[in-house]
Amino acid sequence: MIRRLPPSWLATAVFAVVFGAACSASKPEAAPEPDPIVEVLPLPLEPPRSYEVRSGLIQPNDTIVSAMNRIEVEIATTHRIVAALEGIFDFRKARPGDELRVTFEGEQLELFEYRRGPVEEYRVSRQGEELIGSIREFEVEKEVVRVAGTIESSLWVALQAAGEDPQTALAFADVLAWDVDFYMDPRAGDSFQFVIEKYVHEGKTVRYGDILAAEYQGEAVGRKRVFRYPNPQTGNLEYYAENGGAARRAFLKSPLKFAFISSRYGSRVHPILKYVKQHQGVDYAAATGTPVWAIGDGTVTHAGWMGACGNTVTIRHANGLDTVYCHFSKIAPGIRKGSRVAQKTVIGYVGMTGRATGPHLHYGVKRGGKYINPLSLKFPPADPLPPEELPAFAEAIAPLMEQLGEARLASAQQEPEVVGP
Ligand SMILES: [Zn+2]
Repeated sequence: MIRRLPPSWLATAVFAVVFGAACSASKPEAAPEPDPIVEVLPLPLEPPRSYEVRSGLIQPNDTIVSAMNRIEVEIATTHRIVAALEGIFDFRKARPGDELRVTFEGEQLELFEYRRGPVEEYRVSRQGEELIGSIREFEVEKEVVRVAGTIESSLWVALQAAGEDPQTALAFADVLAWDVDFYMDPRAGDSFQFVIEKYVHEGKTVRYGDILAAEYQGEAVGRKRVFRYPNPQTGNLEYYAENGGAARRAFLKSPLKFAFISSRYGSRVHPILKYVKQHQGVDYAAATGTPVWAIGDGTVTHAGWMGACGNTVTIRHANGLDTVYCHFSKIAPGIRKGSRVAQKTVIGYVGMTGRATGPHLHYGVKRGGKYINPLSLKFPPADPLPPEELPAFAEAIAPLMEQLGEARLASAQQEPEVVGP
């Protein structure tokens, strides 16, 4: 089976030359049309050559040998390819869905390409009698984009509607986690916007960077707006309100970390939260597997089974409070008695172990050994930016303020800047 190279293949070959990748496969003489790049390359006077291209995908439980065998590449050739990429790519890291493509000229291997994701590609090309392995370099551009939407059913759905990867909802929810409980607080009609770094290759988003600014305007929580800025004491990137006040507080708004859980609960459930004294805590109805995070920095005082509470984690915090998390389906790896945990560390996953009629998190707070109502607790923000830092901060956030601006005017008209009850 010998066939001429398809036009898409030529496009790839030209691209490789443009980007300067070492590659012997850009065979100009195979081009049916004259090409500006071809002109700068020597054109040997010989008849056009024919190539055979075979491609395949890594499948579950494949090795590179079994995948290559499926497209009829001899094991000796596969071994030469693996050897050429030694130190560049380790085929034990092959994943289902990785693409491979082999180009032969007659019996001779010309090019092997191995692609995983939009910007990761490895190649082996023939240079004389030798096979040379290389990694292909891609140009990735950073963009700063504003994303905005209105919540109809969930933040997740709203982001999908805005054309962005809903994974960005997780980053957004993390940034505002001191002020907004993204399971309890959203109401239909709430609006959000954020400015995020985005890495793009050929028009496709490769990955997202940090959120630089975020705003949530909600019926239950009022307006929250924060900007990323380095803490002048520690150098850590943190989030501050436009007046320099810190977003961070000793405790998060909720022990449930926002996540997409595909189940009949999902992120749309709005359980009615009520503290019952005899019950010694608050129940958050949530799907099994919903991640639970440490509400504040502290030391784990218990991680394991605890009677009716099932799989339980308890944490002692520096402010004299203890927090209790019950009914986990699973305690997170590495969480054991004595471990130090930072705020936002995932400590376990919602379940219904112990005495529970359905999956939920039972969350309790103790002060001096006595249970208190977690919903009545209010925590002041961490230290604001010092006054001498404010001019630099104002300058840094000015372009972000501008990007958020339009919606700010709209929301200022609708609602005064007052936090709801
Ligand atoms: Zn309970």
